[in-house]
Amino acid sequence: MSKVVIIGAGGVGGVVAHKCAQLPEVFSDILLASRTESKCQAIAAQIDRPIRTAQIDADDVAALTALLESEQPALVINVALPYQDLTIMDACLAAGVDYLDTANYEPLDTAKFEYSWQWAYRERFEKADRMALLGSGFDPGATNVFTAYLAKHYFDEIHELDIIDVNGGDHGYPFATNFNPEINIREVTAECRHWENGEFVTTPAMSRKASFTCPDDVGTYTIYRMYHEELESLSANFPSLKRAQFWMSFSENYLRHLEVLGNVGMTGIEPVEFQGQQIVPIQFLRQLLPDPSTLGPRTHGKTCIGCVVKGVKDGKERTMYLYQIKDHQDCYREVQSQGISYTTGVPAMIGAKLILEGTWRRAGVWNIEQLDPDPFMQGLNDYGLPWQVTELTDFSLDD
Ligand code: NDP
Repeated sequence: MSKVVIIGAGGVGGVVAHKCAQLPEVFSDILLASRTESKCQAIAAQIDRPIRTAQIDADDVAALTALLESEQPALVINVALPYQDLTIMDACLAAGVDYLDTANYEPLDTAKFEYSWQWAYRERFEKADRMALLGSGFDPGATNVFTAYLAKHYFDEIHELDIIDVNGGDHGYPFATNFNPEINIREVTAECRHWENGEFVTTPAMSRKASFTCPDDVGTYTIYRMYHEELESLSANFPSLKRAQFWMSFSENYLRHLEVLGNVGMTGIEPVEFQGQQIVPIQFLRQLLPDPSTLGPRTHGKTCIGCVVKGVKDGKERTMYLYQIKDHQDCYREVQSQGISYTTGVPAMIGAKLILEGTWRRAGVWNIEQLDPDPFMQGLNDYGLPWQVTELTDFSLDD
């Protein structure tokens, strides 16, 4: 029986609120707080159980500390934007509350995301006997745990990792992003980095692609190699990895729109002056694009996200594929959301549950793959994201 504060009432915040509300024996009291309280209230109105709401600007450490001190929750689930990670961690330390997020910190004015800023909090969380769990979404999140689970149960040593994120969903818009447009576009337009022989190798964005056929009836997709934040922690926590890459599917239509928007300067993060006002092009673009939290009713098709790991077991090489397939419309029927928010929100709820029940709780700042993968994998099966594992005999994404 624990009180939680969920911060952020976007697509992911809605799913987290729904999923936590389904487990009153764990999440006995839920406060959903965000910058715009009306969005919290709209989510609360979808849920059978009473959910309290509050207005909070999570950039304001003093105001957030005051809210947490008066509420005294056991845990904050941060599903606002990556820009708020550090201020929320500061407020959690000040108020003596555990912390969980799904995306690593990114400064607002620099298109750069990495764990160094949050790892720098390790000593402070340890000394305060508080826990911060980083990256408890799907990728990062489930993909990190998939890697840890395969390493634990199927290998003596792992050597190669390919994380493959296919979204076979179609929302019918000419162009829309499945999660926060600003974060999504910043991620996709960044230079690619992958881990190879002990260092990160940089290549131009979207310069490497491959074809990948998903299991079951999900289909064949063109996937592009890109940088994704879990590569940083996984390469550090699994030092036997000789290569680690992240791939994501994009339609030609999506990439064509992105290229044009980039060419005309609409994805820029530097402010420009327009009619006497400073405007950041990517933030203005976000205003024009469909809100990801409204895509649920119109998105059809499936996601298929998984990890292919090559390594050695009992002296023999093998390749295992652990994956999860989710139907967008199933998500909508259950929690009124499309699959990307669902596949992020469910792992956030599971991570929170494992902390609150004590199974995962330990002082310090932890990436999710550093904890025992087994209870989390069980949670995925129990709470809507069942997974499969299979051995591959002829896997290759090489040109
Ligand atoms: P949305 O943009 O839909 O929602 C973000 C929410 O945060 C909004 O309600 C917004 O409020 C609120 N917010 C923004 N700034 C503040 C602030 N200063 N104080 C309080 N609230 C604030 O994003 P998503 O729901 O799509 O994504 C949420 C998080 O999940 C992001 O960090 C994203 O990177 C992460 N994510 C992780 C994935 C994973 O697999 N690990 C996958 C997808 C997303 P307002 O409505 O007022 O703007």
